[in-house]
Amino acid sequence: MQTRLNQNLINVIERIEKARIAVDRHRIVRIVAVSKYSTQEEIAMLYACGQRAFGENKVQDFKEKSQFLESLPLEWHFIGSLQSNKINMLLSLNPFMLQSLHSLELAEQLQKRLHKENKNLRTLLQVNSAKEASKSGFMPEITYEMYLKIQESCPNLKLCGLMSIGAHTNDKTEIQKSFELTHKIFESLQNKGAEVLSMGMSDDFELAIACGSNCVRLGSVLFK
Ligand SMILES: *Cc1c(COP(=O)(O)O)cnc(C)c1O
Repeated sequence: MQTRLNQNLINVIERIEKARIAVDRHRIVRIVAVSKYSTQEEIAMLYACGQRAFGENKVQDFKEKSQFLESLPLEWHFIGSLQSNKINMLLSLNPFMLQSLHSLELAEQLQKRLHKENKNLRTLLQVNSAKEASKSGFMPEITYEMYLKIQESCPNLKLCGLMSIGAHTNDKTEIQKSFELTHKIFESLQNKGAEVLSMGMSDDFELAIACGSNCVRLGSVLFK
């Protein structure tokens, strides 16, 4: 199993490097290993292969896995839809980053709690770039304005960029369009401190990198 995960990671890094070098030799692309379908043992094995950043989309799973693996210096990213009643639990686990801030209301609730606890939280705004009813996130038209507003009114949320899930379709040009749109908004926010553009999953990460992503969230391709 360890050798399989190691080979998966090597293959993924090679594919990322190819995609990256084709567009930008100077960009660094970060890998967040999405462990939501994986066991604690598998996470520990991938860590032993050199992977540090992991992502979970349910607060309860994040709690169990991160506490079980407490002795390892892992960097945990929360990538799921956060409900208000889970805010306290999430913050108590001190995630490295919240990638999926999807509403102003949630931002304000987080801000209140963070202020009270005198904590900061690195955060990405999630963009619903393909405007899908099934997905959460800010509509692209209001993302820029919301980014500035949250930056101003929620000082304990350290906004550092955008996250988006590609359009849910097999049509590559539609997926590309959704990535390009998110990248355009990201570019407009670069002078406001946006540094991370998290786009790309197992089925579309090379396309996402071609469209400007510098953070890919990979589950099945790493843990298969
Ligand atoms: C599950 C998930 C991923 C990883 O998906 P794969 O297709 O398995 O790579 C990435 N981002 C988010 C937000 C997810 O929920």
